[in-house]
Amino acid sequence: MSCCIEFDQAFDEGVIVWAPPQEITDGPMMNQIISEYFLRKPREGGYSYYAINYCPFCGMPRSLAKQGLI
Ligand SMILES: [Zn+2]
Repeated sequence: MSCCIEFDQAFDEGVIVWAPPQEITDGPMMNQIISEYFLRKPREGGYSYYAINYCPFCGMPRSLAKQGLI
């Protein structure tokens, strides 16, 4: 499921996470995008989540919706 080295690195470092949105309970969603991939930003007492449809590094579609899988 990798698109580029940068994505893999960000995923390994926990900057990008994969999770069903309903399972994210340790921080608020910061935008309205429907995706299973999130940029995760540490904040007081938890995280902020920014849903992403596309890889921020190479631009490949990442979410299932944008890959045409759902
Ligand atoms: Zn990529």
